[in-house]
Amino acid sequence: MSANRRFRSIVRIGPVQVGTAYDQRGQEKHTAACTAPRCGFSADYDSRAAAELAARTHQCAAR
Ligand SMILES: [Zn+2]
Repeated sequence: MSANRRFRSIVRIGPVQVGTAYDQRGQEKHTAACTAPRCGFSADYDSRAAAELAARTHQCAAR
């Protein structure tokens, strides 16, 4: 996990939150992260659409 990433445009889709942030190289990254306890799903995507799709289709292990 990298520290001090400032997310913006955070939306919640089911238990998953999608946020946009800049990485260390100034590239936009789109992160989908599940907020359910014990799930731990989190991934970075190159596009917002991909991150939102992953959030929508996430099969939550904690459910
Ligand atoms: Zn989950």
